[in-house]
Amino acid sequence: MNGPKVLSSGLNLWTSGRSRWISRLHDGVGGKSSCSSCGPKVCIVGSGPAGFYTAQYLIKARRDVEVDIYERLPVPFGLVRFGVAPDHPEVKNVINAFTQTAKHSRCSFYGNVAVGKDVSVAELQQAYHAVVLSYGAESNRRIGVPGEDLAGVHAAKDFVGWYNGTPTSRELRPDLSCETAVILGQGNVALDVARILLSPVDVLEKTDITQPALEALGESRVRRVLIVGRRGPMQVACTIKELREMVNLPNARPEMVAADFEGLTEAVKGLPRPRKRLTELLLKVAGEEQERRNEASHIWSFRFFRSPVEILSNPENDRTAGIRLAVNRLEGSGEGARAVRTGEVEDLACGLVISSIGYKSLPIDPTVPFDSRRAVVPNNLGRVHQAPGLYCSGWLKTGPTGVIATTLNNSFDTARSVVEDMGSGMLDVSAARAGSQSISRLLEKRGVKPVTFSDWEKIDSVEKGRGEAPGKPREKLLTVEEMLQVARQ
Ligand code: FAD
Repeated sequence: MNGPKVLSSGLNLWTSGRSRWISRLHDGVGGKSSCSSCGPKVCIVGSGPAGFYTAQYLIKARRDVEVDIYERLPVPFGLVRFGVAPDHPEVKNVINAFTQTAKHSRCSFYGNVAVGKDVSVAELQQAYHAVVLSYGAESNRRIGVPGEDLAGVHAAKDFVGWYNGTPTSRELRPDLSCETAVILGQGNVALDVARILLSPVDVLEKTDITQPALEALGESRVRRVLIVGRRGPMQVACTIKELREMVNLPNARPEMVAADFEGLTEAVKGLPRPRKRLTELLLKVAGEEQERRNEASHIWSFRFFRSPVEILSNPENDRTAGIRLAVNRLEGSGEGARAVRTGEVEDLACGLVISSIGYKSLPIDPTVPFDSRRAVVPNNLGRVHQAPGLYCSGWLKTGPTGVIATTLNNSFDTARSVVEDMGSGMLDVSAARAGSQSISRLLEKRGVKPVTFSDWEKIDSVEKGRGEAPGKPREKLLTVEEMLQVARQ
């Protein structure tokens, strides 16, 4: 059977064709029907983009498949809700397509169920013909230097979670009373964080940023954000859109080190197109900065060829007072160039360090193979190694890289493997499985009450209502207890 067309890359491409694709997909929409319980039953763990795209493909590819999505939180959509920056509302439009999938007659959502804790993967495997793990990358890589645990040092994951309303990051309360913040890492997440720190509050107040974050940012005294990377301008990991947003920040100007750009005008000529455009923009920014010198009160800067060595503390209050950076030189060139320490170090005074060096998946169940070095579930096209009937998709499958469109492609690949295995007999779907019926019984015995998709819609509606007065798309509920209270009303 031909699967849905996998689009190359770029969310715009995907969204432009979306309405057609959705209308083909929803040949059966119209409330949950009592569809046959004899068809293949697939369980998906995690309701981020990977979970929803896997479900979307499966439902479209086989008219008899039933899909149940289990989600740890009472609210769906993973990093689309808790990661994507509040000033990127257009990216969050994917939620409309996910909602259509969740409302399909052959799809059910069970929020508030933590797989690995409330129910084991083995129990899910007994109840379903196939289990797809799509639970993302919820932890972060550590910097691995002395002083990392000082007050004033945060993982980007927690800082992003704080301004986006992740329940576990609610208490973060970063101290924004310092002038200089250092961000370690030069990818898109680092630029999201820098932009949020430097954006005027009247821009942020019309977004779905949480109220406590908005208030704290309104009182922030951070004026200078240094974005530090091990390697040089030709190796930055951000994309041009995010860099342009930095350049266009009102009231902020870039400040680069001219020496970092020596020889780049020549080198740029032979680069592949996306890298070339990005480097050209960086060169332009570095060239123009003098003209903007007196215009802005806030400064942002890329600090290249630097690796963290130690977070320095203020002995009086045991808080972050600075960061010691090793100075690097590059060995090799292009994307594969390696940073090698020169032996020199540089100390920068700062009161806030945000480490944006990567998210990281964790094992959730000891029975599931896990590659601890790469922090992924080892797989071949989504088929988990040596675990028939078990699959993975999204960041858990590939590691924490790529945009939502990348996750779409890799989730479609996994779903295609599931469908192929059903067709080839590698996955035995001949005997009926109990699916959610048996899992619901188990959960009930354990005192776990799942949140359905219509329960989530109550939360959604309350959040949107609370956002009306301040003119925000929504005011997010910030604790699991509050979410459950609204869901149960
Ligand atoms: P996730 O989105 O993390 O979803 C995983 C889900 O699994 C979560 O809902 C989680 O609660 C659930 N889960 C975890 N553990 C369990 C468990 N034990 N049981 C049940 N459920 C569980 N991409 C863009 O295209 N544009 C952007 O602007 C953009 N901004 C981003 C900003 C940030 C800060 C980050 C980190 C990423 C951003 N991305 C962006 C990338 C995008 O978010 C990812 O590509 C995508 O979310 C990965 O999807 P996923 O489903 O694998 O993981």
